Amino acid sequence: MKRKGLLIVLSGPSGCGKGTLVKEMLARGDCAVSVSATTRAPREGEENGVHYHFLDRAEFERRVAADELLEHAEYCGNYYGTLRAEVERLRSEGKHVILEIEVQGALQIRGRCPEAVLVFTVPPSAAELYRRLKKRGTETEEVIARRIARAAEELPYAVGYDYILLNDALEDAVADFGAILRAEAMKTRFNTEQTGAMIEDVKTFHVSDHFQE
Ligand code: 5GP
Repeated sequence: MKRKGLLIVLSGPSGCGKGTLVKEMLARGDCAVSVSATTRAPREGEENGVHYHFLDRAEFERRVAADELLEHAEYCGNYYGTLRAEVERLRSEGKHVILEIEVQGALQIRGRCPEAVLVFTVPPSAAELYRRLKKRGTETEEVIARRIARAAEELPYAVGYDYILLNDALEDAVADFGAILRAEAMKTRFNTEQTGAMIEDVKTFHVSDHFQE
């Protein structure tokens, strides 16, 4: 039987480089992202079932009522949520599932999935955050200002997370993220089956069977 993968929550201010970090983690082969459901309209180039499952409000609410979502939140006037079945399927395949979600959803995961590992990524400075948002070239000065104000609201939530991941040089952040996964995968609670098997192995080991004259 495959060992169940970890459940990783990744949050952090917009412009922090979460998307790039996730892309790098996916390239390792042992991680996966869960495709969220949302009521927001698809952006150009976004595909249903690939970037999001795009639902109308009634369908989203039906799924909430049917307890199909592991967490959900309203963000800038739209609903976003994580599909429980999708996360479970990937984890049972042994993948570490990364949920790139905002802080309200992360807090719900903390309450419902105590084994989840919460990672909050931060930029090296406000000036660097501004520079990265500006570099994207997709946002007006006003939207950038709103996102930075939003970052100031979100950053205090970092204290409720397990890890703070500084995203300065990308390769360092990727290595640090990998170190978190390595350490978490070694936690006792993720290794109960292996430990049980080891105890059984030692208990049933007879030195006399292996004694060499
Ligand atoms: P966007 O509309 O830019 O794709 O996403 C807006 C925000 O919603 C981002 O902060 C993103 O991390 C968050 N988000 C995306 N999917 C989910 C989800 O399933 N649940 C929650 N709580 N937030 C999500």
